[in-house]
Amino acid sequence: MTINEAPTTVSGVPTMPSRGRLRPLGLHEVTLRPGFWQRRQEVNRSATLAHVEHWLERAGWLGNFEAAPAERRGREFADSEVYKLLEAMAWELGPAPDAELDARYRAIAGRVAAAQEPDGYLNTNFGRPGQRPRYSDLEWGHELYCYGHLIQAAVARARTFGVDELVGVAIRAADHVCDVFGPGGIASVCGHPEIEPALVELYRVTGEHRYLEQARLFVERRGRGTLADIGFGRSYFQDDLPVRAADVLRGHAVRATYLAAGAVDVAMETGDGELLNSVTRQWRNTVARRTYLTGGMGSRHQDEAFGEDFALPPDRAYSETCAGIGSVMLSWRLLLAHGDPRYADLIERTLFNVVATAVSGDGTRFFYTNTLHQRVLGTEPPAGAIVPRAASTLRAPWFEVSCCPTNLARTFASLAAYLATSDDDGLQLHQYAAARIRTALPDGREIGLEVATDYPATGRITIRITETPDTPWTLSLRVPHWAGGATLDGLTVSPGNARLRRRFSAGDVIELDLAVRPRLTGADARIDAVRGCVAIERGPVVYCVESVDLPAHVSLDALRLDPAVPLSESAEGVVASCRIVSPADQEWPYPAPSREAGARSADVILRPYHGWAGRGPSTMRVWIPAG
Ligand SMILES: [Zn+2]
Repeated sequence: MTINEAPTTVSGVPTMPSRGRLRPLGLHEVTLRPGFWQRRQEVNRSATLAHVEHWLERAGWLGNFEAAPAERRGREFADSEVYKLLEAMAWELGPAPDAELDARYRAIAGRVAAAQEPDGYLNTNFGRPGQRPRYSDLEWGHELYCYGHLIQAAVARARTFGVDELVGVAIRAADHVCDVFGPGGIASVCGHPEIEPALVELYRVTGEHRYLEQARLFVERRGRGTLADIGFGRSYFQDDLPVRAADVLRGHAVRATYLAAGAVDVAMETGDGELLNSVTRQWRNTVARRTYLTGGMGSRHQDEAFGEDFALPPDRAYSETCAGIGSVMLSWRLLLAHGDPRYADLIERTLFNVVATAVSGDGTRFFYTNTLHQRVLGTEPPAGAIVPRAASTLRAPWFEVSCCPTNLARTFASLAAYLATSDDDGLQLHQYAAARIRTALPDGREIGLEVATDYPATGRITIRITETPDTPWTLSLRVPHWAGGATLDGLTVSPGNARLRRRFSAGDVIELDLAVRPRLTGADARIDAVRGCVAIERGPVVYCVESVDLPAHVSLDALRLDPAVPLSESAEGVVASCRIVSPADQEWPYPAPSREAGARSADVILRPYHGWAGRGPSTMRVWIPAG
């Protein structure tokens, strides 16, 4: 299609299905107020965007767009990091325009646009003299993956600003993809899914059916041995089973969650109930058997992949930051499709314990992997050095594979859109954060409210109605399953959606109280790696113990948490009573079963997992042996 045909609806919505149980709200409708998430979004805007831009220049990945082919630097997917920065900038600029940031956005978009070939092809790693031919390595080349992120960036710009140069670049690239991979073209897929959700979203922006059909083709082709077999097996890129035939997510965790998100998008736009049911089943089984307490996904380092059911070792948790983000993308789509609060429960868990963990307080250092048990002291990455992705034991400024920092940037920039939705009858609050929300229902009735809370420090959420029609509507509040229940305006409510339907008046105040207090959590006995251990959670936040909080000469290995002693709280964190045993090194570490020696008890401080490694090198564990 031509750029002039593209509509310019500025909705500010990251994901906008045309049907489904719930309707997403845009960044113009939800504004975060000071609190846990607003602080992080502000750091993202003021520090992370510039940090990422600095490193993209320094590493040469931005310069690739004008460099000679032989000078190209970085891995095969380096272009995508530039696109994710553009996406993050676009989401930031929508609700809060800023001339300086807009100029930076336009400068980068201009460099990208100048590299596009006349037929729409755009990739700095293939097709030019001295480089491999276009589409000669679909297994590992990431060409379509890069288009996916280019298109997502353009969708963000179209929905927050309107059509601009980058939107034109993305439309030309999408047309080129349809020409080359459509019916009669190359009948294959990309080794890394991502273009699937992107093409559906571009269809939603432009109304061009060809993009939806191409996304549908990519989803249908996968799983039929389309790509060459590799050492990890075809499950690595989900090419072992057709999407609709699978029961659980498998293979590379980021690839798996992106593909599943794209499959939901295709299913919603084509009315394919079988496909939607299949992904819904895969989500349920993955959450029940293949997900860490933190919401993290992926327990295999060698291929960054899901392990077998219940293979969730905490000290080998890969839990890539991007897989957490992919999980949020998938859960959000299923929440919009079905309205089931369980999806919002997992989004909350993953946001607080993977997404919030993966970035430092100042927004310039990142985890690529998110282990639940650090056995040895980490080392501070050398200042100014690019570190290999999984080798960093403390947050690092940049990685050879730097997918996670840019993914965090675009997620924080669009975070407000994940708080609330609407339907024909009212408004639903899914995540609790201080915020202002103002929207109109499909029939034009306008609703405004203010959420005041210091969640997750406490569970008190106060909602004040600021604008309401004089007809009844329904305010729906998610009561998380971790809470067991809650109090809504003095009445006990069960986990799930608590609904208030009435004729509201401006000034009405609604109080929701969630029991945010420390609790012990166990694990399915089939998760052998943590059998006999307990973890501590408080509200949606997973806690951990770090060596820097232990008395000198006490190691994490020596702690045996006594579940019979009630947990308490101090200004520093949660206090747990532990027996201190004396693990002795043995020639052969498999003696006859016996109770471990050691009688000394000590109070041990646990703090939120998302802040771990923030005070220098430490060892850390989430799961603590009980006894
Ligand atoms: Zn990543």
